[in-house]
Amino acid sequence: MANPSAVLFKTNDLRIVDRPIPEPGKNQVQISMHSVGICGSDVHYWTHGAIGDFVVRAPMVLGHESSGTVTKVGEGVTTLKIGDRVAIEPGIPCRCCGYCREGRYNLCRDMRFCATPPVDGSLARFYVHDADFCYKLPDNVSFEEGALLEPLSVGVHACQRAGVKVGSKVLICGAGPIGLVCLLTAKAFGATKVMITDLDAGRLEKAKSMGADLCIQVTGLQPKEIAEKVKNFIGDDLATETLECSGAEPSIRAGIYSTRSGGTLILVGLGKPEVTLPIVDASVREVDIRGIFRYRNAYPTALEMVATGAVNVKPLVTHHFSLEKSLDAFETAKDPSTGAIKVIIDCGSA
Ligand code: NAD
Ligand code: ZN
Repeated sequence: MANPSAVLFKTNDLRIVDRPIPEPGKNQVQISMHSVGICGSDVHYWTHGAIGDFVVRAPMVLGHESSGTVTKVGEGVTTLKIGDRVAIEPGIPCRCCGYCREGRYNLCRDMRFCATPPVDGSLARFYVHDADFCYKLPDNVSFEEGALLEPLSVGVHACQRAGVKVGSKVLICGAGPIGLVCLLTAKAFGATKVMITDLDAGRLEKAKSMGADLCIQVTGLQPKEIAEKVKNFIGDDLATETLECSGAEPSIRAGIYSTRSGGTLILVGLGKPEVTLPIVDASVREVDIRGIFRYRNAYPTALEMVATGAVNVKPLVTHHFSLEKSLDAFETAKDPSTGAIKVIIDCGSA
């Protein structure tokens, strides 16, 4: 095959098929793909065929956490050359609308985001992307770390929207890959105490090994009991910022109760579209509740954190598969009994 690509045809029908090798257009580069991480959304499209209003109606290549080597440059590209190793920021906004011009390009209504229908993702041997959304990796940053800049950017945006800073005491709800990148980022931003919750003991163990100061196993605990544990650990008050990374309704409730008056709760997790929350408690204590959607202008910060050693994302990776074995990779990512956190697919380029 010239360009084996992991194509989702319909729900539960993922196949490696040959696709034409794409040629770079103006201001684009062709990339020989190296590492592609599997995200919960890739698994969800595979098993459900849709996320909210985004429905897979035509065959679509999966994958959006990726890195590779530039193999061709299109007309007008001055910032990259053949042989450059790059991380790929997967969303290309319109660049012209009000949101884009304000710099809040993640809110652009014409965003084209890899592996969000109908846009093809990057889980293929060759892929083409706009050069200005590719970030050259320094020699000391691996392809794998380059791919992990994508989830790490979510952590950066969440911590920025929360205002995490030196001396922050941060609660993270949910110790999946996103909770863990939030943990790493909160520490790098100067948080002096980082607490994390989950139902799963294995995930909490991982969080502990990655620097969590307190792990709270929340099974059987009421939201207010979780808040009490947070308060006891901090000493005098609740969390200055809370990053909710599970999307579970009881966890969002716990997030409100665990955030100190005047603090900030960030809703990173996306669960049920409507939930019941202690909203008056949040109001009268001036707890700011903010959503986040992906990230904007976060890749440079994420790359700098990895390149300087401010964070170590390598422990997130639990499994590797070849591109040809993508289906096994997806089965592993889907099955909680595998202990998978981040599954990486190696696409074959050197
Ligand atoms: P994940 O499913 O791997 O992790 C979620 C974790 O939350 C699991 O470990 C689970 O055991 C834990 N959990 C479930 N119920 C809980 C509870 N009541 N209390 C504490 N923990 C609980 O998912 P992930 O890949 O880490 O992503 C996390 C969430 O972030 C998902 O909802 C995802 O859709 C969302 N997400 C949002 C954005 C965004 O832009 N807002 C970006 C990426 C991911
Ligand atoms: Zn726009």
